[in-house]
Amino acid sequence: VKGNKFKPKEGEKKVAKLEGVKKPEKPKAVVVVEKSIEEAKKEKKGEKKPVSEVATPTVELKKDEKEEGEGGKKKRPWRNKLRKAKAKEAAKKEKGEEMEVMEEGGGGEEGEKKKKKKKKKKRNAVLDEIIKDGKAAIMEEEGEGAVDSSKTGDVKLEDAKEKIKSGIFRFINEQLYTVKSSEAVELFKKEPDSFWAYHEGFAQQTKKWPNHPLRLIIQWLLSKDSGKVVFDLGCGEAKIAEAVGKRHDVRSFDLVAVNERVTACDMAHLPEKDGVADIVVFCLSLMGTNLLDFIKEARRVLKTGGILKIAEVTSRFVNPKMFVEAVCKLGFQVHERKAVTDYFIIMQFIKIEKVENKRPYGLVLKPCLYKKR
Ligand code: SAH
Repeated sequence: VKGNKFKPKEGEKKVAKLEGVKKPEKPKAVVVVEKSIEEAKKEKKGEKKPVSEVATPTVELKKDEKEEGEGGKKKRPWRNKLRKAKAKEAAKKEKGEEMEVMEEGGGGEEGEKKKKKKKKKKRNAVLDEIIKDGKAAIMEEEGEGAVDSSKTGDVKLEDAKEKIKSGIFRFINEQLYTVKSSEAVELFKKEPDSFWAYHEGFAQQTKKWPNHPLRLIIQWLLSKDSGKVVFDLGCGEAKIAEAVGKRHDVRSFDLVAVNERVTACDMAHLPEKDGVADIVVFCLSLMGTNLLDFIKEARRVLKTGGILKIAEVTSRFVNPKMFVEAVCKLGFQVHERKAVTDYFIIMQFIKIEKVENKRPYGLVLKPCLYKKR
């Protein structure tokens, strides 16, 4: 086991300089995840009390008790009344503030649910708007020949179309990173066309990358003895099957099948039996927030001793070491962990029998968002 291969140098801050990739420093979804972990830790240590316990004016009332004179007789009863009234008022005010916080989504399950629902509604409205605009632009272009458009008009339309496509790409990309895969399935059911826009956008992004990890994975697969059963989860255009399909039995899965090599499904629920795969690959595809489901599903379909390969954007890791440990606790042994340039990390695990923890701490990845072009 070579567990310590990947070690960022002391003081070295790994920042994604990926062209076109926005450093995902403060994505909302991540902030929530990190915050909840922090809070959970604090609460465990007893540092933080739940909101409802924070604001009760007990101090004032205790003072009153001390003001009792000898023999239990109260010295200034009017003062106590005044204090009690003030305490009541303060409590009322505090409660009001708490409610406000909850409404803003700072606490409370109901508030959080409402906020999520509102956000989802807003996202859907935005998506509808983008797609409507996109369709309008395309229809306009189709009618263009008849209208005898000028050259400049064409250029403008092309620009507009590119912007719309890029907007759809960024929007869908963010969605995929910030929702559960079941919600992503729903999204593409509702708007299947948006998947094409996403794929086109992704392909354009990858063209700019000096070292797409997919190339390294393909090379590695070509170096292996033939006849391996390889699962490519979140395969996109199923480039692995295209490149090594003759050498190995490659099965490619993605949310939508963009070509005949792909089986459409949510990789959290693969239509495959237990223990059939020699190799499972996630190349830049751990996108949904139910990361745990993906790793567990990969383990289910893998043979014991089979290989799990994960390639991801470096800046997505909160802590690569912690991530590796978490995967191991799910029933793997780390075999390799190396940085491919500054942008990507490739990890390799071997499936073992023993599962140490079914819900390990640290299995977190930040979304990878893209800049406006
Ligand atoms: N592996 C390919 C594509 C990466 S893009 C490559 O390296 O080129 C990420 C892909 O993961 C997208 O095609 C997306 O649709 C897919 N994906 C994300 N979540 C998925 C899920 N739950 N099930 C199946 N595919 C998923």
